[in-house]
Amino acid sequence: MNCEILAVGTELLLGEIANTDAQMISLGLSELGINVYHHTVVGDNPARLSAALEIAKNRSDIIITTGGLGPTADDLTKETIAACFGKKLYMDKEQQERLHQRMGARMTPNNEKQAMLPEGCEVLVNDWGTAPGCAFYAEGCHVLMLPGPPSECTPMFKYRARPYLERLCTDGQIIRSRFIKIFGLGESAMEDKLSYLMNTLTNPTAAPYAKEGECEVRVTARAASEKEAYALIDPVVAEIRGVLGDVVYGVDVSSLEEVVVKGLTEKGLTVATAESCTGGLLGKRLTDIAGSSACYVGGAITYSNEMKMKLLGVKKETLEAFGAVSAETALEMARGVRALTGADVGVSTTGIAGPGGGTPEKPVGTVYIGISAEGLDKVIKPDPRYMRSRQRVRNSTASHVFNLIRQEILEK
Ligand code: ATP
Ligand code: MG
Repeated sequence: MNCEILAVGTELLLGEIANTDAQMISLGLSELGINVYHHTVVGDNPARLSAALEIAKNRSDIIITTGGLGPTADDLTKETIAACFGKKLYMDKEQQERLHQRMGARMTPNNEKQAMLPEGCEVLVNDWGTAPGCAFYAEGCHVLMLPGPPSECTPMFKYRARPYLERLCTDGQIIRSRFIKIFGLGESAMEDKLSYLMNTLTNPTAAPYAKEGECEVRVTARAASEKEAYALIDPVVAEIRGVLGDVVYGVDVSSLEEVVVKGLTEKGLTVATAESCTGGLLGKRLTDIAGSSACYVGGAITYSNEMKMKLLGVKKETLEAFGAVSAETALEMARGVRALTGADVGVSTTGIAGPGGGTPEKPVGTVYIGISAEGLDKVIKPDPRYMRSRQRVRNSTASHVFNLIRQEILEK
């Protein structure tokens, strides 16, 4: 099965908004094992939409459209698609009634248009907005129409389109996946270690993905029930964990910081941050996680030497002898923020994020990360070769900090 995503909207062509609906749908389709061969974007223009549909229906098994289901004059998707597949539109009484109930006195005559649907379609009821979506099969092609606003398109895909598509591609079976998250091992090294599995498995399958600074393996199974799917998946997940070892930081978790927040909270421990080169990113990423107040007390952004001394008690002699970017300074920062806040764990970052400021001894990407806790004082220096841009240095440094907390505090 291959699918084409056809986004309708002039604002997409003008660059006013990004095609995030297509991105979201593509991710969902890949989880279902449906190949996406084309993303197409057309403006709110019936002639060009018809032309795009003609091409799409000749090369795709499934067409998913987004946008143009609303009540206004430029919302032409349904009319154009129906005409293109030789279908008439009919007034769906149930959807008309729903619209009246939803809109009440705000209902205008052109709102009625949203309840007009192609004959013989399956209605995709929209619980998140006014315009219903729909799906039908014609001329060898499944066509699904979803509304444009992401707040509607996302749940409509997940709860309406996805079940329809699951029926198509699994003969009543369902698809489930687990995501194994990896930090500290490159994608090619990971593939090397796992190729014996990835090349031979059929159900479940195991597929690698590279993300910025991280990678993951997705293990996907088809089965008659969720229980059976996980029974196929879980032994493979256990085997992969065994092969990869400590670089696996979690399964079905969203990020390193989520693992850290959950882990510290479970252990009843608190953490404080002392940041130089990350400039607040540690605090930002920790507080992105709901519930982080249970373990994150706060921190200090100490960019200058003076602030490192004043707030964290870093010694002048240390800065003079070893420099701000040094293992010695990193450790004094971590100990200092722990003393300042009374947290169980203090972590610190100091480094050269670039593009300027590098020297032969300390090139751009040189970063020291400190951690201090009861019975623990440690500094690590990640490999600077992987730190190619300012953004990358900062993001990667923050990830290393969270990984260090995981290894030293959560798993010991
Ligand atoms: P409405 O009932 O709001 O008119 P609609 O289904 O007719 O919904 P459009 O009119 O095409 O959808 O788009 C409405 C808004 O949804 C756009 O202004 C834009 O903000 C957002 N949108 C549309 N298509 C996309 C897309 N592919 N990706 C992200 N956002 C989109
Ligand atoms: Mg619209």
